[in-house]
Amino acid sequence: MSIKNNLLHIKATLPEHVTLVAVSKTKPVSDLMEGYEAGQRIFGENKIQEMAEKWEQMPKDIQWHMIGHVQTNKVKFMAQFVSLIHGVDSLKLLQEINKQALKHNRIIDCLLQIHIAEEETKFGLDEEELASLLSSNEFQEMKNIRIAGLMGMATFTDNKDQIKKEFLHLKSIFDQLTIHNSQFTIISMGMSGDYQLAIECGSTMVRIGSSIFGGR
Ligand SMILES: *Cc1c(COP(=O)(O)O)cnc(C)c1O
Repeated sequence: MSIKNNLLHIKATLPEHVTLVAVSKTKPVSDLMEGYEAGQRIFGENKIQEMAEKWEQMPKDIQWHMIGHVQTNKVKFMAQFVSLIHGVDSLKLLQEINKQALKHNRIIDCLLQIHIAEEETKFGLDEEELASLLSSNEFQEMKNIRIAGLMGMATFTDNKDQIKKEFLHLKSIFDQLTIHNSQFTIISMGMSGDYQLAIECGSTMVRIGSSIFGGR
């Protein structure tokens, strides 16, 4: 199957309220252009340098999502153009994004990454850290970032029950937050192997790479 066919096939199966991020990390611009020509406008990358190079070369109506872990000292390389940063997991990082966004007179949308997996290695905030971040004065004072929702990654396992449990956990944290915060609209969860399950559990944004562009 071609990139175009993969994309159209997946899009046809997504409910209307679910946004597709085409994860194009490691893939050449020619592959991304195939997706672009099939109508895709949201691409996800996990390395800032690579995303910036692709941004320079590609049409300017593309929305670039940073889905990987972000190092504070690299925020400046994407502040001009990034449209959503998925993996924000510290106040320090948020402050740097705010600072760089201000330089470009922008408000940058961010998702807070929540640690839902059992693995120790996955990045993200726990519920306590999330609550203390959101209630801090430093957070309240930042004018050039907007938290649009939450992001999470399930444990890398074939155990569907476990993955489901983790997705539902993220959804419940999201539901708690939205009682007070109507600006929270996005739950970014689900990849090639588990996006259907993620949608059943309340995902509104799926990040799909290999099922569109092939293996890496
Ligand atoms: C690579 C990546 C994806 C996409 O993974 P696939 O299994 O190729 O769909 C989604 N989210 C994050 C954070 C990633 O790094």
